[in-house]
Amino acid sequence: MPGIEWRAYEAGHCTHPECATRQGAPFASIRYPAHAFALRHPQQGWIVFDTGYSEHFMDATRHLPERLYRAVTPVHLAAGESLCAQLGRDGVAAGDIGRVVISHLHGDHVGGLHDFPGAALSCSRAAWEDMRARSRLGSLKHGLLPRLLPDDFLDRVHWIEDAPRRQLPPALADFGTGHDLLGDGSLLAIALPGHAAGHYGLLFDDPHGTSTFLVADAAWSSQAIREGVPPPALVTAWLGDTQAYRDTLQRLHQLNKAAPAIRLLPSHCSEWRAR
Ligand SMILES: [Zn+2]
Repeated sequence: MPGIEWRAYEAGHCTHPECATRQGAPFASIRYPAHAFALRHPQQGWIVFDTGYSEHFMDATRHLPERLYRAVTPVHLAAGESLCAQLGRDGVAAGDIGRVVISHLHGDHVGGLHDFPGAALSCSRAAWEDMRARSRLGSLKHGLLPRLLPDDFLDRVHWIEDAPRRQLPPALADFGTGHDLLGDGSLLAIALPGHAAGHYGLLFDDPHGTSTFLVADAAWSSQAIREGVPPPALVTAWLGDTQAYRDTLQRLHQLNKAAPAIRLLPSHCSEWRAR
């Protein structure tokens, strides 16, 4: 199975009270980076996992009612900080990205999709159907901004649920099976239910054989995984399913204890620096 090189990018950040993401944490607002990941497969080339914020996100939330998104979680994006701009500075053109894997459809994860018009998309059908069933305000209330999906989304999407199932390494037996996104076992999408409809993480090995599990928003921080402490039920019930969220977090907590060599990376953790 080929090893995958990867880099993390901080594509903007938001601020909100820490206590909203971990029970018992201080009320003070802290910074939550929006990490996006660029993966390079030795044969299949560049793949992006989530996009973070971009100018398209700022445009989509400029006016009411979508402006409320930024009122609840103030968003900061410096000039040139979008994933696309940062990749460009690293010599990777938008057209080099062959695929974007979407963990879930929250605006801070799909904010830059419009920057990669040539890429195939891997997304959960359940996530799409959940968004499609909501009104404009209903979407907004759940952190969804349908405008961020390209018009040709359905022409480009490969549903994660349709990718062949593959057995996970023994340490991850509690997570069921993975979906083999590229057909060679190198990139497995793993359901991490609870945070939002159709929420998936991504497991792969780097060229040195280290397993990396991008867990998206199954936890807001590495500390939450280490301690097994979830956000308040009010927050998880608002966004998704509290019981499922807590069950997923407990499995990550146990995995981290049993197999500390597997690197677990939540999208908004500020503990590890991008790149
Ligand atoms: Zn989210």
